[in-house]
Amino acid sequence: MDKLPYLDIHSHRRSHAENAVAVECLSMEELTLKKTKGAFTSAGIHPWWLEDFTRAEILNLQTYVMDLVREKKLWAVGETGIDRVYPETLDFQIELFHWHRELSDDFGLPLVIHNVRSGSDFLNILKKNPPKSPWIFHDFRGNAELVKELLRLHPDCYFSFGISIDNSPQIRELLPTLPLTQVFLETDAQKHLDIHEIYLRAAHTIGIDLDFLKSQVWMNFKRISPSQN
Ligand SMILES: [Zn+2]
Repeated sequence: MDKLPYLDIHSHRRSHAENAVAVECLSMEELTLKKTKGAFTSAGIHPWWLEDFTRAEILNLQTYVMDLVREKKLWAVGETGIDRVYPETLDFQIELFHWHRELSDDFGLPLVIHNVRSGSDFLNILKKNPPKSPWIFHDFRGNAELVKELLRLHPDCYFSFGISIDNSPQIRELLPTLPLTQVFLETDAQKHLDIHEIYLRAAHTIGIDLDFLKSQVWMNFKRISPSQN
C-alpha cells in the first residue's frame, strides 16, 4: 500500500470512503446470521439491546459472539459497555460488560466500549480487575481528568472520536491534549460525515499535518491488532 489508509476504528456502515479501512461493528441481524464481510469485524451485545430482549435471547447472542471469537472472525469484542441513560438495565449491562471483557482478555482481542455517563463505573472495574487487552472507548465524551485516571489504571486505553469533533467544544479542547499514541477516529453510525472529513477536522483541531495523523492512527491500529496465530 503506497498511500496510508484512513483507519475507521468503529463503524456501523457497510460502505466506506475511498482509501478507508474500517472495523465494522455487527448489527444484531448480522450477528444472528454470523455475517462478517469486511476484513476487520467487531461483535458484541450493545447495552441498548437489553431494553428489548429477554435474557434467553441475549444468551443466544452471546453464543454467536463466542462462536465468532472461536472461529477467529473478530478483530475486536464489542461494542459493549455501560449507559447510565438506561438505569433499568444497569445491573445486566454491568454483568454483560464483565462477560465481554473476560472474553477479550481470554482471546487477546481489543475491547470496543460504549460509555455514557459511566466513567466512574469503568474506573471501579479497572481498580478491581486490571485487563490485559486494549480498551477502546468509542465516541469518548469524558474529560481530561477521566483520561488521566483511565490511563493510570490501564495504559492500554484508547479514545476514539467522530462527530463529537464537530458538535462538542469540550472534545475540541480535549483532543489536542491527548497523547497521539492513544487516539483513534471513527464514523460510528454517521451517514453523512465520512472518515476523510473527520481526519481533516481532527488534524486541524490538534494542529498537525493530515498525513502525520493518518500514520500515527495507523501505527496505533497495527500495534494493538491481535497477533495472527
Ligand atoms: Zn457504535
